[in-house]
Amino acid sequence: MKSLKLINGNLEIIDAQKPVLKDAGAIIKVIGCGLCGSDIVKIREKDDRAILGHEVVGEIVEINTKTDFKKGDVVVISHHYPCGTCEYCVRKSYSMCRFFKSTNLFPCGFSEYLYASEGHLEHTTFKVPNSFKYDHIAFVEPLACCIRAVERADLIKDANTLTLGLGSIGLLMAQASKNFGYSSYGFDIDSKRQESALNYGIKFDENIKYDAVFMTSGSHHAIPTALKYVRDGGKIIVFSSVKGDFGYTNNDIYYRELSVISSYSPSVDNLKTSYKMITQGKINLDNISTTYGFNEVVSALEDTVSGKIYKAYIEL
Ligand SMILES: [Zn+2]
Ligand SMILES: [Zn+2]
Repeated sequence: MKSLKLINGNLEIIDAQKPVLKDAGAIIKVIGCGLCGSDIVKIREKDDRAILGHEVVGEIVEINTKTDFKKGDVVVISHHYPCGTCEYCVRKSYSMCRFFKSTNLFPCGFSEYLYASEGHLEHTTFKVPNSFKYDHIAFVEPLACCIRAVERADLIKDANTLTLGLGSIGLLMAQASKNFGYSSYGFDIDSKRQESALNYGIKFDENIKYDAVFMTSGSHHAIPTALKYVRDGGKIIVFSSVKGDFGYTNNDIYYRELSVISSYSPSVDNLKTSYKMITQGKINLDNISTTYGFNEVVSALEDTVSGKIYKAYIEL
């Protein structure tokens, strides 16, 4: 079967062995998979060990489980789930759980078939409602990451939030914040993206002091922008890796009593909330993904990096 892999740092479609169902779990025939920003970072780092693809939509073709899933179900599934009992899990730092980091889909999300464990079926798998758009339901995991960030910001009822960077994640973040009842705004240095964000109900107001700024941009230039617009006493939520050594200076944080926190990956509860928000139609997901064939994955990558598209959904 066909599977995507980095070989000597190059993206290649290889002929891999189809996974077999030995223990509990399921074999999933992949229908499509979103190309995540974190996949792009791994591809750029030329990390041959990287397991690519975790925003998977697929059909269960073989199953051995105690869950309610059955053969023929079309599901959306993501890669990591925590152990629930370690020193990190009891402190709710689920994505720091060593077990969480070790879990994954096998061999990867960009494969004709993959093996999902019983734990994946229990914690990270959801049934796709009939006739729901596959490239829309594939947003369950990325939106869940945003939901976690909004929850971690822990804001007062009438808070104003600003999302910096209005790419696919920015559009989700700003909408997630709105769903929590906050006044949600967004800013992008690209005026076209700023304008397109209006289609998702997102605008920018430079006269507001923001209680929280969500950093979805991977550019260090967003840091001074965050410091400019965050209210004294406000919170900056780091949500993206930035290449190089950049950060917030001690005195910004001290004199303005700022909180700089981060949010990385979702919890199991965040995935559930995300699935509900999406299937209840609370997030506008129109025209965020662009669909590519499996053999077009390199152009999908290039178009995402160049900003030609927001996000790629790869059909297997
Ligand atoms: Zn993702
Ligand atoms: Zn744990």
